[in-house]
Amino acid sequence: MTFKSFKAIASIFLALAMTASLPAHAVPEQALVPGGIAILALNSYKPNTSVTFDDRKTTIFKHDNAWYALAGIPLKAKPGRYQFKIIQPDGSTLATKVDVKQKKYEEQHLTIKNRRKVNPNEEDMKRISSERERKRAAKNHWTEDYPDIDFIWPVTGPISSIYGLRRFFNEQERNPHNGLDIAAPEGTDIRAPADGTVIEAGDFFFSGNMVYVDHGQGLISLYAHMSRIDVKPGDVLRRGDILGAVGQTGRVTGAHLHFAVMTNGILFDPLYLLPGQQPTAQLQ
Ligand SMILES: [Zn+2]
Repeated sequence: MTFKSFKAIASIFLALAMTASLPAHAVPEQALVPGGIAILALNSYKPNTSVTFDDRKTTIFKHDNAWYALAGIPLKAKPGRYQFKIIQPDGSTLATKVDVKQKKYEEQHLTIKNRRKVNPNEEDMKRISSERERKRAAKNHWTEDYPDIDFIWPVTGPISSIYGLRRFFNEQERNPHNGLDIAAPEGTDIRAPADGTVIEAGDFFFSGNMVYVDHGQGLISLYAHMSRIDVKPGDVLRRGDILGAVGQTGRVTGAHLHFAVMTNGILFDPLYLLPGQQPTAQLQ
């Protein structure tokens, strides 16, 4: 065999080996913008090491035998320098800084027929404030388990509203859109995007039928406006398990899934965790 053909064969073997070792998912790409994510590769990670971003706990995850810290960047974050801090079990710390850039989010104007969903009455306000407590508790839920961040789409369909839009309901400004809306017919199954445990499920004034799933290390996903809830708090889900169905309950203009993801209370754009495998997905 000539050296040249040996080299060709060797490179084929190398290519095959690389294909075989390619993970089904890659580590999510970092997006250093408001509503984005910051990711830090941890060269040597030991349990009891704590990693913070902007002095908030991060989500530690393992991917292909390597450890990473994931932080959500708040939608309200100002552009500038932010710090990851690694606090080792022996108390020593390491710090590294990243630059968060600006991102402009568009406006969205929606007309809601049920005016009480935009201007709630006194009775509604009482309900809303008690629900706020439940939402806060779910958002800040913490379990030590390391999450699997290889998310799948909970539902497939056109994206009817992206994350971060400045929202006006009946021409009144409300909170920006903190999730991703995926349009699908009422009754379409909603699947758990990754393993997790249900921590909250119920009927909420604005969100309609809603479920929160804890994936571990502060990574939590939520599903709103469901027609049907098939799970209850404490249920353990595997990726792909059905947790309910798409509906139009709460403050909506039509049937869709409102899907939101947060890490340690910071809601970020779910598209950064989802695989880009939905070629039909587009803003309508
Ligand atoms: Zn939504």
